[in-house]
Amino acid sequence: MKLYLDFQPCQECNTMMAQLSSPEILFADPKTRADESAKFLRHLTYNHNEVVQAVIDDLPKQKRDQEFDFFK
Ligand SMILES: [Zn+2]
Repeated sequence: MKLYLDFQPCQECNTMMAQLSSPEILFADPKTRADESAKFLRHLTYNHNEVVQAVIDDLPKQKRDQEFDFFK
């Protein structure tokens, strides 16, 4: 899992990031993937506001090969 941000993931983040990069989710149907991404994004929104802001600021610079679902 690549994360370009200077960010300290909490335990919940680690769990969700591991889940998002697991084959179970990577090969899941688009709805499941979207749900899992949304869950993580919601967590970031409520718990790591500075990360969300940094992602938004950084987004135009990201390439399309980004592995993170919620960047797509
Ligand atoms: Zn977290």
